[in-house]
Amino acid sequence: MRTITLIILHCSATRSTQSYTFRQCRQDHLKRGWKDIGYHYYITRDGQVHTGRPLSQPGAHCKGHNHHSIGVCYEGGLDAEGQACDTRTRAQHQSMYALLCRLHDRFPSAIILGHRDLSPDLDGNGRIDPAEWLKQCPCFDAMVDYFDLEPEGLLEGK
Ligand SMILES: [Zn+2]
Repeated sequence: MRTITLIILHCSATRSTQSYTFRQCRQDHLKRGWKDIGYHYYITRDGQVHTGRPLSQPGAHCKGHNHHSIGVCYEGGLDAEGQACDTRTRAQHQSMYALLCRLHDRFPSAIILGHRDLSPDLDGNGRIDPAEWLKQCPCFDAMVDYFDLEPEGLLEGK
């Protein structure tokens, strides 16, 4: 197994009113010339967790971080008007939490964060501020939502 230091959360950047299935996502990634879907897990609006790439293989979801991470994506991330928005359904909330619990048990030292939290720290203040986000993905604060699943000691002093 690879060394896993990060569990990176994504959204598919599709509208909450629109369906974007696991199959469509996988096909779009294959069209880019990738060997498989870029994520390890894809959670559709109905809460179903679809298994993408095997965990033993690096994904293709966050440039520079694929080799030591796991990529989890939920269907959505844009509201009906196309604005960035946490569109997770109740079912997606439940299955994302259950999945992250499982991954935390297996990789207890991996940090759970959002794609946007890996944007470059332009002003070097040690925090990735909203103005520095390259994109909004996954449209929620992963380290706040899943603070109870972060490695021990990570959030001490915050
Ligand atoms: Zn992303």
